[in-house]
Amino acid sequence: MNHINKSTEYWQELDRAHHLHPFTDTKSLNEKGTRVITKADGIYLWDSDGNRVLDGMAGLWCVNIGYGRKELVDAAQRQMMELPYYNTFFQTTNAPATELSQLLAEITPEGLNRVFFANSGSEAVDTVIRLVRRYWQVEGQPDRNVIISRNNAYHGSTVAGASLGGMDPMHEQSGLMMPGIEHIMQPYWYKDGGDLSPEEFGLKAAQALEERILEVGPEKVAAFIGEPIQGAGGVIVPPETYWPEIQRICEKYNILLVADEVICGFGRTGNWFGSETFGIKPDLMSMAKGMSSGYLPISAVMVGDRVADSLIEKSGEFYHGYTYSGHPASCAVAIENIRLMRDEGIVDRVRDETGPYFQKRLRELEDHPLIGEVVGYGLVAGMVMVKNKETRELFENGSEVGNICRDHCFNNGLIMRACGDRMVLSPPLVMTKAEIDELLEKVKYCLDLTAKDLGKL
Ligand code: PLP
Repeated sequence: MNHINKSTEYWQELDRAHHLHPFTDTKSLNEKGTRVITKADGIYLWDSDGNRVLDGMAGLWCVNIGYGRKELVDAAQRQMMELPYYNTFFQTTNAPATELSQLLAEITPEGLNRVFFANSGSEAVDTVIRLVRRYWQVEGQPDRNVIISRNNAYHGSTVAGASLGGMDPMHEQSGLMMPGIEHIMQPYWYKDGGDLSPEEFGLKAAQALEERILEVGPEKVAAFIGEPIQGAGGVIVPPETYWPEIQRICEKYNILLVADEVICGFGRTGNWFGSETFGIKPDLMSMAKGMSSGYLPISAVMVGDRVADSLIEKSGEFYHGYTYSGHPASCAVAIENIRLMRDEGIVDRVRDETGPYFQKRLRELEDHPLIGEVVGYGLVAGMVMVKNKETRELFENGSEVGNICRDHCFNNGLIMRACGDRMVLSPPLVMTKAEIDELLEKVKYCLDLTAKDLGKL
């Protein structure tokens, strides 16, 4: 199909007639008309009217290596010519799946040596639930099936992912949620910390896990799951005291600790995985997005030795898997992506150079009349727009201010995402300092426009 020489209106019309978009109010989108993204290179996108847009979100937190990397395209093409598909069920495997397994065992923290492949973050999270529950079954404790998660967590949008996540609007719309899932408070100091210091609040938020374990009964709790930094919830960075206390509690009650690294993985926080940034030692780790930098869909669950050894020894056949688990082309792209990230020292650069620079420059916005806190690690950050900086008072309808700011960005050549009243950034990891300066200039300009609309400038 020739995409050239068609007009924006042509695509908008097709879209309006037939396309239901994810997480979108289709009626209002249809009134405005969708924006058609036609090409990309480095950190920039272009739309069908020729406008250049700086992608401050790396797609959906995933194009870590940036757009236009021919090496990834070549890897996919080579693999598709040789073996475009074969499944990994029963008795077969393929070369890229085996090599990627080994590579993932190498770059993930110690003790995570086995991998189960899937296609999306949501499927990886579903896989976590199945693995965790099967593990306790074969360990002779089938009643240990409750998984504890957090309010405002995002773990995907399948029924299992949405249930495990803590997004109220998703729970309200989807009817019956899965049983056996509990939610505790999130470690969001700026909003809920009151008079406590961040350190005190971090402990309090973690201890909510212990309280819930005791309420449910420790013999019924299978696992705790958390994103090292809550991404889609608005880039909520927990106080330093939080994760060590969570780890201590999981160990005390012999509960599996699952790190959902779908956003934090593959260099986002300045280490290969967010677990390293926060000193978390997970039993299982879900990952997706940056694994292939979004060039092809692929996800995985890394399974620690404790769980893997037990399942291999005692489970027999594990009745779980996807047609495209270990898809050869997706695996080949993921291998090439990881190879490039290593060879070009991309994660090291985020840790030592561009990450600290990005975070320092962003902190300048703490002086902005609209901005409360600015938080982040590496190349991911969130900032909250507030009614009153002194009292930390938030806007009543946070999503309205967020959407105002997001629309200003959209109209001024910048993609910055709104999560309620929090504006979040997660740009490609290949950004240079000069590009960070350009990003910051655009962010400030759009915050100023938003502040003017709200009578704060
Ligand atoms: N888990 C986390 C932490 C995520 O951020 C996401 C998506 O943003 C998911 C799971 C779901 O991933 P997907 O959209 O690929 O299903």
